[in-house]
Amino acid sequence: MARYTGPSCKLCRREGKKLYLKGDRCLTDKCAVSRRATVPGQHGAGRKNVKEYGMQLREKQTARRYYGVQEKQFKKYYVAADKKEGIAGENLLSILETRFDNAVYRMGMASSRKEARQLVRHGHFTLNGKKADIPSILLRVGDVIAVKEKSLSSDKIKGLVEAMADVNAPKWLEVNKEAVSAKVVAVPARDDVDFEFNEQLIIELYSK
Ligand code: SF4
Repeated sequence: MARYTGPSCKLCRREGKKLYLKGDRCLTDKCAVSRRATVPGQHGAGRKNVKEYGMQLREKQTARRYYGVQEKQFKKYYVAADKKEGIAGENLLSILETRFDNAVYRMGMASSRKEARQLVRHGHFTLNGKKADIPSILLRVGDVIAVKEKSLSSDKIKGLVEAMADVNAPKWLEVNKEAVSAKVVAVPARDDVDFEFNEQLIIELYSK
C-alpha cells in the first residue's frame, strides 16, 4: 500500500483529535483540530453514530497514523505483540515505541515523527556505530543511536541539536545531549506512551 502523502491535518480531523503530526505547529492556534474538529468532507459533521467496529477501527487508525505506520506493517506488529508474553495491547504499543524513527523523535532530534523518519532515511543517524537509514528498525535494550559525525556540521542538524535541550525523553531512553546520542535502557512500558490510546480496541479489531 502506498504511503499517504496528503495533508497531515486531514488525518487528525478524520480521527477528531490531535495526532501531533506537524511538530511545533500542532501546539499553536493554527492547528486545524483546534480550529475545526469535525471530520473532513461535506457529511463530516453528521457522522456521530460510531458502533463497536467503528470505534475499534478508528482506534487502530489513530495509532497507525500517530506512529506513521502502514497497514501491512501495523498488522505484523499486532501478530508479534499477540505472540509475546503479557498484555497484547501493551506489547503492541511497546513495539511501536521502539521503532527507530520514534526513538529519534523521542530523544528530541525531530519536532515530529514524520521529520524523524525523513532524517533517518537521509542517513543522518548511526545505530551501534553503523549507518542505519531504515525508520522501521525495532530497537533493543542496549542499542545506541547517534548522529553521524558528518551530519553534525549541517545547519539543520545543528538547529535540531539546540532544540534537543528542551525535550524530556522517556525513561526507556537515556539521552546524552553532549554526545547527541541515546541509549535504549529498558523496554518501553505502557506509561511511557505519551498519548491516550485504548489499545484494547485495536486488539479486539484484529482478534475477530
Ligand atoms: Fe494535527 Fe498538528 Fe495539523 Fe493540529 S497542526 S491538525 S495536531 S497535524
